[in-house]
Amino acid sequence: MTDRFAALRNAGDALGRLEFFANDNPKCPHCGCECSVSHNEWWNLYEEGEHEVTCPSCDQDFTVSTRVSYSFSTDNQEDHQ
Ligand SMILES: [Zn+2]
Repeated sequence: MTDRFAALRNAGDALGRLEFFANDNPKCPHCGCECSVSHNEWWNLYEEGEHEVTCPSCDQDFTVSTRVSYSFSTDNQEDHQ
């Protein structure tokens, strides 16, 4: 068994851990590999909440927290006259 959460621990302080926060793809906290959602077909990750996945690179489990946010903007309008 390799070192659990080594990558996350090596990231150090809160600032370093930002590397693991709110990414386009989940970053494995064990080995630091960026795991592609589409490549791994982790479609359930698009649902808000916590999900357990297994890293395809180091084969260890970790939790992915998904946060979904929607925003609606109306600041760019074209004036059709
Ligand atoms: Zn990994």
